[in-house]
Amino acid sequence: MFDLTNPVFHDEDKARAHLEEQRWPNGPECPHCGERHAVTKLEGQKHRKGLYQCNGCRAQFSVTVGPSSSVRVSRCISGCWQRI
Ligand SMILES: [Zn+2]
Repeated sequence: MFDLTNPVFHDEDKARAHLEEQRWPNGPECPHCGERHAVTKLEGQKHRKGLYQCNGCRAQFSVTVGPSSSVRVSRCISGCWQRI
């Protein structure tokens, strides 16, 4: 099942990288308009880590924002509740 010694569970950056790999195997995709190519990673102290900007619709997003992760989280929650 889960390997809790895996660094993705202890390091925020590694966890984010892991999530990005799972969700965007071909690179980041805008959850608002679906843009895949014109996406810029926002870096520097002014931006929180893992933030991207879509050059198509100008929206900012991260791997934890958007419909896919919401669905996954709600599935996880309902799955956990069923096991209790
Ligand atoms: Zn977009």
